[in-house]
Parts: sequence; structure tokens; C-alpha cells
Amino acid sequence: MIKFIKKYKKILFFSLFVILILIVFLINYSLMSIQSSTSINVPYIWSDSISVKKDFLKWIDFNVSIEALNATYKLDVNSYNSDFHYNWIELLALLACKYGNNFDRFKQKDLDQFAKKIKDSGSVQEVAKDMKYYDYYYEAYSAILREFLGLREDETYGMKVFLPIAKNYSFSHYKDFGTSRSYGFSRTHLGNDLMGSIGTPIIAVETGTVFHLGWNQYGGWRIGIRSLDGQRYYYYAHLRKDHPYVPELKEGVTVEAGDVIGYLGMTGYSIKENVNNINVPHLHFGMQVIFDESQIDNSKEIWIDVYNIVEFLKKNRSSVYMSNKETKDYSRVE
Ligand SMILES: [Zn+2]
Repeated sequence: MIKFIKKYKKILFFSLFVILILIVFLINYSLMSIQSSTSINVPYIWSDSISVKKDFLKWIDFNVSIEALNATYKLDVNSYNSDFHYNWIELLALLACKYGNNFDRFKQKDLDQFAKKIKDSGSVQEVAKDMKYYDYYYEAYSAILREFLGLREDETYGMKVFLPIAKNYSFSHYKDFGTSRSYGFSRTHLGNDLMGSIGTPIIAVETGTVFHLGWNQYGGWRIGIRSLDGQRYYYYAHLRKDHPYVPELKEGVTVEAGDVIGYLGMTGYSIKENVNNINVPHLHFGMQVIFDESQIDNSKEIWIDVYNIVEFLKKNRSSVYMSNKETKDYSRVE
């Protein structure tokens, strides 16, 4: 045996070396495919071939005002066909740096100045080069708003997301993020309540896959939809007793932005299924941002304040009609 090793020493060492290289390559490749399959653009720090440390955002305070959302949206959409197309997410990240995340300070004049600077210097990187938190805000806002604007099915550029309440149905809401809730253990409110009439068709805000469907003690009949890039989870809760969803909805099914998914109701706050235990009929609408799978189903979840997002979404509402007189189900007007 020793003789054998001595004789083929070089070949053995060479083979071992090749196997080692292959192992390192395979580990790196599988990690890269995990990263690309979730399309999460977070910085990854490669320590060595075996252990990998990930660096991802742990929290976002989404404070962008409706005025700033509207103004940057206008600049982005209106410049789409011009010689310089502004990116509203970049503009919002610059403003967040300037205001220290206090968007009460927003002034159109500041936005115009940033727009001019970007155009003059030719790149946002040049304008942001001394801003310590630019990358943080850019990454945070991209995670939230990435799919809000873009090319739509009819090849026009604009808003791709919809208000969760169907067109021509009234609703009201107020700033209720983070307020305390009495039912069950002490917890804060991680969404926005949209008060409306029972049966109001509920619309998918963004295209995604149905992740959760069914009864939940707090949310009652609820739908959880995860965006196709995996980074946003939309939560629609307290849906109608007896008939909460459109019949074609199942876990794993893809729904398009603007599709009818269910109906407003007052279910929830009960361990027993199909119970109306909410006082005022409303849709609880929530948005969770996910940078890493470790941020699901635990205290590390990032829920953002969607009040201003709901205000912003009022620009794009889905028209619906009763498509099945027997079941009284609704569909979007195509
Ligand atoms: Zn709520």
C-alpha cells in the first residue's frame, strides 16, 4: 500500500486537488443560485469557501411622504421618453439622506436641484458620493417600490400596482401603524385598516404567488401573496364570512396585479373558523419586506407603514364587474 502511494503520489495529490477545486466550485455555485433565485440584491460577504456571512437590512422606517412619492413619480414617468430618464427610487434615496429620513421637510425645490445635479453630472453616484446612507435608502426603497413603476402589458410606462380596494367602492383610512391592539397578547398594529362595506372586491396590489390562504386567529380569513422576486409579502385580512375569496384562488397560484382576490369583511379575533368578531368591517392591509428567509415568521419580520403607499395607490384602481351571477363573484374588467 505504501509502495502504491509512493508510486502514484503525484497522481494522487493531483486528483485530490481537482476534487477540492470541484467542491469549492459547487458550494459557491449553489449559494449563487440561491441568491439569484430570490433576486434579492443584498451585499453578500464571501469569507471563505465553507462558511458564508450574509449582510442584509434588518429594519426599515418607511417615512416617505405622499408629496415626495407623487413628485418623484411624476419626474420618473414624465422623463421616460426624454433624453434622461430619472429613477424615482434614486431620487427618494437622495431626499431621505438630505432630510435624515424626515420627509416633513420635503420641498419640490430640493427635488428639482437633485434632478439638475444628476443630469449635469450624468450619474446619481456622483451626486450621492458623500452621502453615507444613500446605499441603505436605495436598497430599502428598491425592496419596497421596485415593481411599482415599469412597462405595463400595453407597452406603456407607468404604474403597475393597484389600490387594494376596487374602483368605485368607497373606503376610509387613517394613520394607524404601530398603534396597540387589545385582542390577544399585547402587540402593535402592523398594517393599515381600510374601512369599507362588506363584500367590497379586494384587489391584488402586485403580481405574486398566493403563499397563505385560510383561517388565522387574528386575521380571520386572510390571503398572503408574495411578490415574484420574493421580496415583498402582501397581507389581506378579515375577509368576508362564508365567501372570503374568489373560487380560483389556491395556495401556489399566481395572481396578477389588479385581479380580484377576495371580499372585504369582518372575520377574525377567534380561534374558531368563519367567525365575525371584528367590530367595524375593514380590510387589514399589510406589507412585509424580506431580505433574507430568516426574516419570516418571527420577531425579525419587517413590516412597513403602508398608509402613504395606500394614498399613492389611489392613482390606479381596478374596475370590476359581477362575472358570475350565481356565485356573485367579481372579476376585473380586462
Ligand atoms: Zn388592521
